[in-house]
Formats: sequence, C-alpha cells, structure tokens
Amino acid sequence: MRVAVISAEAVPYSKTGGLGDVAGALPKALKAVGIDSLLITPCYWQTKGEYIWHTAIDDLYVNWRGGTYHAKAFYSEANGSPTFLIDAPSYFHRDSIYGYREDHERFAFFSHAALTLLRRLGTAPDIVHLNDWHTGFAAVEIAESRRWDAFWRNTRTVFSIHNMAYQGGFGSEELWKFGFGSEFARNAFAFNGYASAMKAGLEASDTLSTVSRRYGYEIQTPENGYGLDWLTRLRADRLVGITNGVDYEVWNPATDPELPAHFDANDLSGKAECKRQLLDEFHLPVDLSRPVFASITRLTDQKGIDLMMQVAGEILATGSYIVSLGSGEKRYEDFWQRLRDHAPRQVGIYRGYNESLAHRIEAGADMFLMPSKFEPCGLNQMYSLRYGTVPIVRAVGGLDDTVENWDTVTGTGNGFKFGPYRADRFLERIYEALFAYADRDSWQRIQRNGMSIDNSWENAARKYVELYNWTLRL
Ligand code: ADP
Repeated sequence: MRVAVISAEAVPYSKTGGLGDVAGALPKALKAVGIDSLLITPCYWQTKGEYIWHTAIDDLYVNWRGGTYHAKAFYSEANGSPTFLIDAPSYFHRDSIYGYREDHERFAFFSHAALTLLRRLGTAPDIVHLNDWHTGFAAVEIAESRRWDAFWRNTRTVFSIHNMAYQGGFGSEELWKFGFGSEFARNAFAFNGYASAMKAGLEASDTLSTVSRRYGYEIQTPENGYGLDWLTRLRADRLVGITNGVDYEVWNPATDPELPAHFDANDLSGKAECKRQLLDEFHLPVDLSRPVFASITRLTDQKGIDLMMQVAGEILATGSYIVSLGSGEKRYEDFWQRLRDHAPRQVGIYRGYNESLAHRIEAGADMFLMPSKFEPCGLNQMYSLRYGTVPIVRAVGGLDDTVENWDTVTGTGNGFKFGPYRADRFLERIYEALFAYADRDSWQRIQRNGMSIDNSWENAARKYVELYNWTLRL
C-alpha cells in the first residue's frame, strides 16, 4: 500500500502545534509497520536549510489561477521518511507560517501543488491522507478528478481533523480562481453563505478521523462542531478516532539529550537533579521539597488560561512554584508577566517558543496543568506522563482518553481530571494532587503508573493502517 501524507506543517521542517508533531512522525511510523509512505509539506522560510537535502524537481509547473506557477520540490528524509517540500516563495517565505488574509489561497495552492507533484512522480498513491482545513481543497480535487481521470481512479482519501476550530473560511466568489467552478465543488465548500475548506474536506473525503476517540464524539455536538456538527453526525459511520502517538525517540527521559540528568520508571533519582537545574534556569531559589507546577502551551482561549489565571494565586499560597513556557494572546502574556512580578521567587516564565526548554520543563516539573476548554488530542499530557510529571487536566477530548484519575484505594490512575469548566473544580484537583504529593509512596506510584503507559506511534500507526484498509474496501 502506498500512502501520501499531505500536511501544512510537519516536524522537523515546521511546527506550530500538534499537527506538526503528528504529520512529521506518522510517515516514519507507517514505514516501520511496512507501509510505503511519503510526506508532502510546504518549504517555509522557517524551514531550516540543514533539513533540505537536495532539489528533487526544479520545474514543478502548477496550473494556477489561469496561468502557471513555477514551483520547486525539495527532497529530504530528515523526519525519517521520504519528504517532498513544496517551494513557492511568494506563498511560503513569510514571517510566520499562518495568519495572513490570503491563507486560504496559500493552502489552496499548496493542496493543488501537492497533487500536481504526485502526478509528476508517476504513480498515484492508494491513500492520500489529508490533514485539517489546509488540505480540504485536495479532497475535493481528488473526488472530482477521479470520475474522469484514470490517474486518480483508485485513490481514496482520508481526512484527519486535528482541530475543528480552524476552518479556513473565505468568500465563495473566489472558488473559481482556484479551479473549483463545478457544482460538485461549490456544494462541497458551501457553508453559511461562504466557502469553508474544512467543510469541503469533511464532505468530499472517503473517510474521516480525529486525533482521539472522545474528540470524535465531541465534534458531533454543537459545542465543538463549530456549525459543522450536523455534517460530522451525518458522516459518523465514516469517522474513527485514533489517539496520536508520542515519538519516544525524542521524548524519553532515559536518553533525552536536552536533560541535565536521566531517569526512568525504575530509578527516578535523576528527576530531582532535573528539578534543581530547572529552578536554577528560571532563577528561582532551589527548594526541592516544594512542588513545581508547569504549563507549556500556545496562550490561546482554547487552552483554559483563564482558569489558570483564577487558580494561580491559590497555588502560590501553598508555597509551590509555577513555571510557564508559551506565547500568544497579549492578555495571557500580560497575566504571566504580572504573576512573575508579583512573586518573582515562585514564578518562572519564558515568553516564546523553545523546544529544548520544553523538554527540561517536562523533566523537572512535578505537575503539569492543562485545563483546556477543548483538546482534540493534546501531546503535552502524554509527554508529562512519560517524564513522571503528573498531569492535572480537564476531562475533554484526548485528555480524557489518556489521563486516568488517581484512585487512592486501588492505587490506579496516572493523573487528576475534572469535568465542568470551573476554577473551583480545577482547584479541587490541584489540592488533591498536592495531598498525594505529600505522600512519597503514593506519588511515586502515580508517576510510575504514568511512565509505564505505552502511547507509542507504533500503536497509532497500526490503527491508521486499519483505517486505510477499511477505506480501500469501502
Ligand atoms: P496544540 O496543537 O493545540 O498546540 P498539542 O498539545 O497537541 O496542542 O501540541 C502542542 C505541541 O507544541 C507540543 O509538542 C508542545 O510541547 C509544543 N509547544 C507549544 N508551545 C510551545 C512553546 N512555547 N515552546 C515549545 N513547545 C511548545
């Protein structure tokens, strides 16, 4: 079976969030279970030169907006599997990866260029695995072309929803510019009087997946469907949930090169050294008996930062430390700055994106806070579990699927979770965690329960292979 994964971001070439982690890791994991896979992603200005091995295609002519766009395709295997990076400077050489008025045009182009590239490579894949709204355009193009174009006749599409909140909306009058003039295409994109690339992907793909089982149900509700819940309900028989894997080659406290000391479930002693150095790195006085609460996240409304704002004072009142890594909305950045100014001996902040520091925080912290409003899968709670850092999360999406409540009677569970989006419920779990932390045996039990869980990509890749096989049989 040949699979082409198409994604707007992929590690190590580019990343703004979980989508990048998944799209980078999945092709490698598929290869490991015997699937012939390749990845297609844009070459951004941010893509490091060291990851570009050579130019595979110097003259990738893409029919575009009534003319021809002269793009290139670079080749790399920096993510451990064959990758083509589409080079189209006017679209992708910009200060940031997303956030432009014409994002829909940039990714409509990317989708079309990716399919042009596949055709140029000569053999159509059995499965084209699309990801989020950026690639919804390709779902429509394949569904439409395969009616008359022998090249695509046997190709099937899988569309993965990583985040339903971003839908790639734009004015329907632009559709024809991108080659979507037919009634079929216009219907696929049509959504409340404008065009939605997410809706097109949901409608035109052969099968759908979400990045956790619970999120698969949640997007069928008005609260998380963003106006498209009727469509996900309609297509529920074609929708499966597969929890993202963790790349344990990158996230392994026993070998992680970013850490000052190493540890595993049998010997946790190195974690204390990681904690000492973490406090030092944040210029905090070192007192190892006090717990360190951590947060690593994009500072957006989705991540429940307003709940964090409501409980931070109470956490500090217990004498604990809080460290935060992240950037995003100004009001949340300001909050962290104010908290740090208020308690400089207990609060450490780093505003920005820092992969290496993320590893050291996961290793050095005691508890990880993730009170998300919604969370399609969430990766940090899974990294935390492996690093013996106990997650305190809201029971939504992938957080609910991967974190199990600690039970003092049975000694089972790996973290703490709460339901309603309310600060008092969050705080209850925080106090419960502090109570458990005070008892060394209980705490180590919780840590070990979490560290022994296998959220590897191998498991996830096998489920994707099942999904692909099912899709081909439909
Ligand atoms: P989302 O995709 O919604 O941002 P996920 O938890 O699925 O949330 O994935 C977030 C990924 O981005 C994780 O790998 C996390 O470590 C990383 N991340 C987020 N913010 C930062 C940051 N400021 N510095 C380093 N890594 C970050």
